[in-house]
Amino acid sequence: MMRLPPDAPPEPDVAFIGVPLDIGTSNRPGARFGPRDVRAQSCLLRPYQMATGAAPFDDLVVADLGDVPINTFSLTASIDAIRDFYADRIPAATIPLSIGGDHTITYPILQALAARHGPVGLVHVDAHADVNDTMFGERVTHGTWLRRAIEEDLVDPARTVQIGLRGSGYSAQDFDWIAGLGALVVPAEECWHVSLAPLMASVRERLGPGPAYLSFDIDGLDPSVAPGTGTPEIAGLTGIQGVEIIRGCRGLDLVGADVVEVAPAYDPSGNTSLLAANLLFEQLCVLPGVAADGPDPGGRGSA
Ligand code: MN
Ligand code: MN
Repeated sequence: MMRLPPDAPPEPDVAFIGVPLDIGTSNRPGARFGPRDVRAQSCLLRPYQMATGAAPFDDLVVADLGDVPINTFSLTASIDAIRDFYADRIPAATIPLSIGGDHTITYPILQALAARHGPVGLVHVDAHADVNDTMFGERVTHGTWLRRAIEEDLVDPARTVQIGLRGSGYSAQDFDWIAGLGALVVPAEECWHVSLAPLMASVRERLGPGPAYLSFDIDGLDPSVAPGTGTPEIAGLTGIQGVEIIRGCRGLDLVGADVVEVAPAYDPSGNTSLLAANLLFEQLCVLPGVAADGPDPGGRGSA
């Protein structure tokens, strides 16, 4: 990832981890190929963020720890393998940046992180709420992970913001459950044609100083910029807005982040994976410990 050396230091500040799982997917599969394609596209990335002056590789020790060994025949075994990998193989002080994989992966990742940090605040970019109780009778899927995470007290709903929700639903009340628990739900329509910097100022206010996690489902963005995904929805966020959201997370106490649902086969141009690689770079640039002195679209002082 990002041309990092093959020999990972034992206790990096930040670790990229691939999670090539897509058997939690309800529609088009293929996100198991996300990690390898995002890594390939990340070869273009250079070390410095020109807009903010962030120099993440100067400020942090960054490593690629490879992929979690997935059992493609068992979602249950894979969930356990992901949770155990993050609990056992990621040092306590290391911030994991995960490359999905379908969105189910965020559930076991949060199980491991919440065991260390307690319930986390959540910035969740997605076209979908991912809070169904079950899908086809299954309790753990890419459309139920957040409900499970809240039920298990891995995520504090009062410190949760969902951005980009849209599309057709299973019921007219699909977005209400989490809002009823105190989360801020920002549908895509409220994002159309506007800068998201002011929103992110309120997001930072809401999440405050506690531990926070950023989960970025690539289908939160419009299919015109990110067609390589399993469950595309029209009229989504722009690539610029995706960057605004991540840069607006500067100042949060991020204990982990991910980019999920990249299914490269549906985008022969490679642009979806290239975009995902860049979003992971943007995430790296706003982690605690990375200084920045350039323009701050989030409207917050430099770290
Ligand atoms: Mn999702
Ligand atoms: Mn989604």
